[in-house]
Amino acid sequence: MTPSLRIAGQKVAGQGPELSSLNPADQAVVWRGRQATELQVEQAMQAATAAVADGETGASGWAGTSSEDRTAIVRRYETILRESQDELAELISRETGKPLWECQGEVATCIAKVELSIQAASERRAPLQTMVGEATAEVDYRPLGVVLVLGPYNFPAHLPGGQMIPALLAGNTIVFKPSELTPAVGEWLVDAWQQAGLPAGVVNLLQGGREVAEWAIDYPQLDAVMFTGSLRAGRAIHRRLAGRTDVLLTLEMGGNNPLVVLPDPAGQGALDDDPSADLSQVAGMIVASAYVTAGQRCTCARRLILLDDDWSDTLLETLIDRVKRLRVGLPGDDPEPFIGPLISPAAAESMLAAQLAFAQHGGRVLVELRRDARSQALLHPGLIDMTGVAVSQDEEHFGPLLQVYRVPDFEAAIRLANDTRFGLAAALIGGSAEQFEQFRHQVRAGVVNWNRQTTGASGRLPFGGLGDSGNHRPVGYWAVDACSDPVASLLAEGKPNESFDRMQL
Ligand code: NAD
Repeated sequence: MTPSLRIAGQKVAGQGPELSSLNPADQAVVWRGRQATELQVEQAMQAATAAVADGETGASGWAGTSSEDRTAIVRRYETILRESQDELAELISRETGKPLWECQGEVATCIAKVELSIQAASERRAPLQTMVGEATAEVDYRPLGVVLVLGPYNFPAHLPGGQMIPALLAGNTIVFKPSELTPAVGEWLVDAWQQAGLPAGVVNLLQGGREVAEWAIDYPQLDAVMFTGSLRAGRAIHRRLAGRTDVLLTLEMGGNNPLVVLPDPAGQGALDDDPSADLSQVAGMIVASAYVTAGQRCTCARRLILLDDDWSDTLLETLIDRVKRLRVGLPGDDPEPFIGPLISPAAAESMLAAQLAFAQHGGRVLVELRRDARSQALLHPGLIDMTGVAVSQDEEHFGPLLQVYRVPDFEAAIRLANDTRFGLAAALIGGSAEQFEQFRHQVRAGVVNWNRQTTGASGRLPFGGLGDSGNHRPVGYWAVDACSDPVASLLAEGKPNESFDRMQL
């Protein structure tokens, strides 16, 4: 059996059940291997523990290397990514079904993440030196130790990378378990790390699903879990770690994201002399919010909130027309599609079931979400008017289906935007600067944009969710904050503290 894991620098065959990943477009096998067993999970965790600091030889491990040496290896990884951009993008496309242009964008983001992480580490952990009385106050940053990274399928390279790069720069070692739907991309990334010259055991790779993740979480010397995925899984991990105060947990989960559109998109007057150009620009931003990556982004807008007025009626007509004309197709098509297949036929099935449930509760289908004859995983995007529907489910439906709600005024729009347990992304299109300030202060979300789509978060900013979207540990530019423990020191070299003497204590 092909080696599918990497433990202590060696590629080894998994000894557990078989696992394969399929190309969502045509169900061709992309990767086949075996999952890790409980024993192999333990071996990977032990390898990562040993690589932090080598207890046997007394030599310092990864945590003891200089920050310059770590940065040099991370930059070599960046060079490998740069030199193999096309290969990686093509693999992501084959394993996820995302169109190639999107996968090229994902690889570009992975490359940019390296310099951003180096910059974030020096900026957010800038040396602090200040006097406290006669002592110098200093902060030193100590790596956490062994970090378990659990990845999702939708950005199989970028999202784990956004956690692994800062964690490695900070001196941690890693056990990485990619999504069981994208094992090939996971393996590619770990091979690249190894080629970059990481010492054995600093990054280890496990393949498998929930059970493999659970064995790793249960390992007693674990120091941190960095999770990106669904609320269901995030909650299960949170429960599993209950009482383990020594394990740092970062949860990056889903959303039920609102997008509010007010008339007069520029806020200060029309964007263009031609009002139809405004409508077209707004429709474009709605499409980019709801349907990019076939709706499989955590930041995708799920609920479009419009005022009940004539301008919004016209906008909705423009949007309906645009959604019907979106280019849907397979990754190899020429020209490339805007919307490719979902991750699997089962994911497409669950989106169709969601549309049916909405319609059964009284939703009015404006554009039908429907299967394309060419692939079981390929869906034409849908739009459904849910105004006045009494029972609305506050769930994340991870695909190309946008709900529309009509409300009487801006206050009602804000109330509806907040009518969710999630709090990841939100956007206001149109309105005035004052209205945006109100929106930003009142809408509960970690990303709140104005005249920009909900998707496409900036790598220069923090990225995290409130409510059931996260646990107050943002990643993005802030990811470095969860990669080490700050150690506080008061130093008074050669000057014992005399104040107790003076007080005759
Ligand atoms: P998922 O929750 O099914 O899986 C994510 C990872 O967790 C996988 O590696 C999986 O094997 C593991 N896992 C699943 N159940 C587990 C359990 N009980 N215990 C331990 N590990 C478990 O997520 P997915 O379907 O791969 O990804 C889509 C989800 O990810 C969506 O909900 C999306 O919103 C979310 N997401 C969030 C962000 C963010 O930054 N907030 C980014 C991308 C995706």
